[in-house]
Amino acid sequence: MNKMPKIQRMRKFTIKDLDKRFPNDNVCLEWIKNHRWPQGIECPVCQKVTKHHKLTNRPCYNCDYCNHQVYPTAGTIFHKSATPLRTWFEVIHRMASTRCGISAKQIERETGVTYKTAWRMFKQVRTLLGETNPVFTGEVEVDETYIGGVRHGKRGRGAEGKVAVIGIVQRQGRVMATAVPDVKRSTIVPFVIKNISPDAVLYTDEFPSYDHITRFGYKHKRIQHSAKVYVAGQIHTNNIENFWSLVKRGISGVYHAVSPKYLQFYLNEYTFRYNHRNDETSMFELFLNQI
Ligand SMILES: [Zn+2]
Repeated sequence: MNKMPKIQRMRKFTIKDLDKRFPNDNVCLEWIKNHRWPQGIECPVCQKVTKHHKLTNRPCYNCDYCNHQVYPTAGTIFHKSATPLRTWFEVIHRMASTRCGISAKQIERETGVTYKTAWRMFKQVRTLLGETNPVFTGEVEVDETYIGGVRHGKRGRGAEGKVAVIGIVQRQGRVMATAVPDVKRSTIVPFVIKNISPDAVLYTDEFPSYDHITRFGYKHKRIQHSAKVYVAGQIHTNNIENFWSLVKRGISGVYHAVSPKYLQFYLNEYTFRYNHRNDETSMFELFLNQI
């Protein structure tokens, strides 16, 4: 139990690779332009894809024919930021390549931006990592937990200063985790119905909020944690519990307290890592592609 999910074929994108591929702001800007318009920029004035050239001292490209201007960062997290693009890329790289997360304090030390700026950049990168969630099917584990708060406080359900989170994981598949106001049946049941197809098999523990969920069509198998049973054949919630331990280990190492308001951003980051754990592309490039 509680093994880290294996990262198998994923390529590494080292700090050397970063220096080589993204040596300066202009190269970063060009990457964003090519990422947004892989077939070339369609000029709205000329009404076709035209050649564009970079203006020397501004982060924009002009149409060769009519001089119409395009700002590749418009509408992205980089827009109107006083922080150079190269620094943004470096921060994204550091966030992506540290498996257990990195603190704003470390970013402040290593890149020279202020703590406030580093913190704001974190939040924006995490916003990018929020994924749209297709409905879960097949064998699905559902579990609720509490995250954050005082480290040595009361533990378990209802612990003070902690934030309730519901998680769903499809076996051999994706995870989703959402901060919720509580773990009452009136919260959990609508969450399950919204995100899990009624033909799925649900695996949960014996927490009462899951009682009578079969009314909605689900097959429901429960593990008796209170009787110290953790695995009974296929009946267990180990996948979602492994995910919780990853999140908790990451958060306790980096953040001493997590406010409810920002917990979702952290959850987004861990969910993203988990869901892409077997991708071949490096985590840095996966992060960048979200822009
Ligand atoms: Zn034009």
